[in-house]
Amino acid sequence: MDKKAGFNLGYLMFALLAILFLRSLWTQGESVQTLPYSTFEQYLRDGKVDSVTVGDQLITGHLKVPAPGGQTSVVAAIVEPAMAQRLAQFDVPYSRTFEPTWLRDLASWVLPTALFFGLWYFLGRKFAAGMGAGGLVGIGKSKAKVYMEKQTGVTFDDVAGVDEAKAELQEIVEFLKNPKEHGRLGARIPKGVLLMGPTGTGKTLLARAVAGEAGVAFFSISGSEFIEMFVGVGAARMRDLFEQARANAPAIIFIDELDALGKARGAFPVAGGHDEREQTLNQMLVELDGFDPSVGVVLLAATNRPEILDPALLRAGRFDRQVLVDRPDRKGRLAILRVHVKKIKAAADLDLDQVAAITVGLAGADLANVVNEAALCATRRRAESVTLSDFTQAIERIVAGIEKKNRMLTPKERQVVAYHEMGHALTALALPGADAVHKVSIIPHGIGALGYTLQRPSEDRSLVSRSELMNKIAVLLGGRAAEKLVFDELSTGASDDIAKATDIARDMVMRYGMDEGLGYVAYAENAPRFLDVAGATTYRGGDASPETAQKIDAAVRGIVHDAFETAIALLRDNRATLDRCAQALLDKETLDEAEILGLTADLRRTA
Ligand code: ADP
Ligand code: MG
Ligand code: ZN
Repeated sequence: MDKKAGFNLGYLMFALLAILFLRSLWTQGESVQTLPYSTFEQYLRDGKVDSVTVGDQLITGHLKVPAPGGQTSVVAAIVEPAMAQRLAQFDVPYSRTFEPTWLRDLASWVLPTALFFGLWYFLGRKFAAGMGAGGLVGIGKSKAKVYMEKQTGVTFDDVAGVDEAKAELQEIVEFLKNPKEHGRLGARIPKGVLLMGPTGTGKTLLARAVAGEAGVAFFSISGSEFIEMFVGVGAARMRDLFEQARANAPAIIFIDELDALGKARGAFPVAGGHDEREQTLNQMLVELDGFDPSVGVVLLAATNRPEILDPALLRAGRFDRQVLVDRPDRKGRLAILRVHVKKIKAAADLDLDQVAAITVGLAGADLANVVNEAALCATRRRAESVTLSDFTQAIERIVAGIEKKNRMLTPKERQVVAYHEMGHALTALALPGADAVHKVSIIPHGIGALGYTLQRPSEDRSLVSRSELMNKIAVLLGGRAAEKLVFDELSTGASDDIAKATDIARDMVMRYGMDEGLGYVAYAENAPRFLDVAGATTYRGGDASPETAQKIDAAVRGIVHDAFETAIALLRDNRATLDRCAQALLDKETLDEAEILGLTADLRRTA
């Protein structure tokens, strides 16, 4: 509001003044001659005037004959009669000063107006500033603080065990170092990069390292700090944050705990709603959409709960680059330990690899804690340096604490998980048409997932055959098949797999008409895929007769059963390979594509 209003007001005042000034010039100029009052009276007496107009303060006379200067009228300021009479006897010219009143008139209304607008503008600015500095207006004082560091002093060397994430962020570093060169070929830098991973894996550290590597300013703010704010303040804050960063470009904006801010809108409706959070989130989206990365500002954010984020955040042009920052495997843990052990006085014969081997499931922050705790142990016993036994003690202490928080796996459970994941991987490798296996891991991941098998879609397919879908289901059930085969036992770990397999089987029967017995009939409506909402397909189960519904159930069950049999037969056939791979996975915790291919050279593909 204020800027525009102030601007227009200035114009208006200028125009008014100009008009009045010109008018006064005109009235005084050419056609009218200003006279002392005495002279005016003389003119009257001399009969030079043919008509007179009396105003409040001025008297104007029209001349019979225009004056030599071309004026056709004369004007004089009226002197009161009493005064005029007294002055007339002295026979001197007398006049009343001509006091132009327009200036005073103008001032009497312009000044208050200007003052009013000025005050408004001033207060508005102060209020906005108060949100930041907590100055004038206490109510607007926000909890969320923007932390600005000119130099974080952190480099990639300080972050270990997350090589993939570092490699992905390297591009951002290159861009920030030289925004112009980067845009030379029109390449677009991602506006927003989302670091996802469990707590303590070094997301914040990585973000600061990116700033440090690129040598740019680092603006950070935490999503959770926005929550308790007054409505509107958070959005103002967000605008401020982007403005500051732009002014200091090249720079990095880092929003920690994005999930606190970016929860799916309306996902957890609370009485009264979360207006503030939504406004702040919307403001962030507006800023994100509006900003041009070529000025050299990159937005980084971190979350440990990507699954609850508003899908709008992940759309193209927003946080369109997602970087996984996972718990480290054994090699990674060793690297992280090395970084932190530099800061303490370790015994010469300390074997860090052993420490890495017994810290399964610990994240970077836990490992930093272990090193510190071990140093404390050594200090307590007045030793010269930190030894392996100090580490063992420290680990016991820390793991006990962590186990209480998030249960760690027992050796037996790890074994089950290893077989389960290899079951997925081997079926995927052995069955034609399944996606290539990219990575297998038994590092707990996210909520509820104890391990994972990453498959890399080989190509975008729009047409999928029935046998390929069958194979897909078999791969999904491969985990449970391995558990059944090896331990002859079912576990709860496969619930997600089974839900997915069932979905595919149901689609095959109800949408794609792939069951001979039921005929090529669709029993489900294809819901418009406007928003990619899971479960958008509505099944017309209600329309089907009870007999048909029964047949559908039977068909779905049949498909899942067949696929499971395929998986179990395959794994039975390759039992030696399965054992070997599971053991390797237990040792290394993660296997990449090359390692898996190396271990499965003798895989038999037909069941
Ligand atoms: P997050 O933000 O993912 O919760 P942080 O970045 O805050 O984790 O990590 C906290 C601390 O743990 C860091 O300051 C660092 O000392 C240590 N740390 C975490 N991950 C790593 C890592 N990959 N390499 C080295 N140190 C790490
Ligand atoms: Mg953090
Ligand atoms: Zn599984």
